[in-house]
Amino acid sequence: MKSFLNYIDGRFVRGKREFADVNPADGSVIAQVTEADQEQVDEAVHAARRALRGEWGGLTVRERAARLHKVADAIEKRFDCFVQAEVADTGKPISLASRLDVPRAAANFRVFADLVKMAGVEAFQTETPDGKSALNYAVRKPLGVVGVITPWNLPLLLLTWKVAPALACGNAVVVKPSEETPATATLLAEAMQKAGIPNGAYNVVHGFGPGSAGEFLTQHADVNAVTFTGESKTGAAIMQAVASAVKPVSFELGGKNAAIVFADCNFENAVDGLAEAVFLNTGQVCLCAERVYVERNIFDRFVEALKQKAERLNAGWPTDRSTELGPLISAQHREKVLSYYRLAREEGAVVVTGGGVPQFGDGRDQGFYVQPTIYTGLPESARCVKEEIFGPVCHIAAFDSEEQAIAMANDTKYGLAASIWTSDLKRGHRVAQSMNVGITWVNCWFLRDLRTPFGGVGLSGIGREGGIHSLNFYSELNNICIQL
Ligand code: NAD
Repeated sequence: MKSFLNYIDGRFVRGKREFADVNPADGSVIAQVTEADQEQVDEAVHAARRALRGEWGGLTVRERAARLHKVADAIEKRFDCFVQAEVADTGKPISLASRLDVPRAAANFRVFADLVKMAGVEAFQTETPDGKSALNYAVRKPLGVVGVITPWNLPLLLLTWKVAPALACGNAVVVKPSEETPATATLLAEAMQKAGIPNGAYNVVHGFGPGSAGEFLTQHADVNAVTFTGESKTGAAIMQAVASAVKPVSFELGGKNAAIVFADCNFENAVDGLAEAVFLNTGQVCLCAERVYVERNIFDRFVEALKQKAERLNAGWPTDRSTELGPLISAQHREKVLSYYRLAREEGAVVVTGGGVPQFGDGRDQGFYVQPTIYTGLPESARCVKEEIFGPVCHIAAFDSEEQAIAMANDTKYGLAASIWTSDLKRGHRVAQSMNVGITWVNCWFLRDLRTPFGGVGLSGIGREGGIHSLNFYSELNNICIQL
């Protein structure tokens, strides 16, 4: 049986307790994971601090960037290994891990390695009241030790999305990957070693949230900032944990994203796009659309077309290249999704398709699969329309005017993403600009240049990451003014 160990100060170390890593496709235990206790989290934070004072902290920006490219090389060199680890941990289809998760992890390191070399600082020669002048400019400095806490849905992609810019800015990191998906953060430690990232710059502590490594890390006095992706309520708990020390936080949280489909859309394109937006990664992407609003005169046709798509999805073994839909992450998460499937019926939903658990007659019946599900007929106030379910499910409602569609889409406490489907360019711009979200797509979904800002409003997060926005979060700007 494999073991996933903590990685502290360049060494893999065992903790006093272990927990099981389960394959969501069949419920089998694939590894034992060591749980970091308070002492090990302390060691990791102190190792990170030493790295800042040691070789890592002494590197120039150019040298750091070169090492980060080497990390990307090391990921690409063991591409299949990373893909297999991610598939076993998450149950996501191998085709998805191969085209999305692992390539993006390498890209995250390359993008931020290149960006940090180009990141300029402001400089002004300014007139002073006494008629002389002063040179006013800013320099970028690392924050220090950054605590990185990540979820299970896109484990390596989301972890590297934070680790790469944090390291690029010269910080040292202690990462706490999700207890559900410990594998690729551990493999990344091997890639860091290969790439010559000095001991202590990247540390991994495994474990849970409250009363475990997650809480020990966020409450640690010597952690300078916390960057977190996960549920909104966990974000709120972390915010409380860091409040008294006034630490900077960057939060990428949950969503209840809307899609608006106008009658003038390219119908096939919209149906294909929404099939992705609702069901990709079994609906376990924060950006997935769980609320779909369709102009009334194409409503029935659209519902039928999306139903056909849902029913044709191949829910196979994740390791099979033709599989399109994997299981949910865990028995616990499946119970949460199924509780919403039950609630939808209680709230009066029409079940267009799905709503239950598929039967395979093989080992997958011990896994955590659910049927892709579409509902109609719920009032906008229904909990299933208001709360994030995080499964392969959407509710479709009809609208009669652009104003009504905008109002329905914006009627949420979340504000992560939206998509608009229309052939009217002006309307695309107009509606996109009226969305209260961090990112809006027009006639597409999940496309993004990594240099652009990413984040959410309301319950969906605090701050923006991506491009210069990441560099701004992971560094402090020191403003220097010199009388000339
Ligand atoms: P989660 O909040 O349950 O857990 C995320 C991480 O936080 C895990 O590593 C967990 O161990 C840790 N954690 C939990 N409680 C903690 C505490 N009190 N202190 C410190 N750490 C703690 O989220 P999840 O179930 O792993 O992920 C799914 C959620 O993540 C969904 O809500 C989804 O929308 C959101 N998400 C958001 C984005 C985004 O970019 N906005 C991306 C992916 C996922």
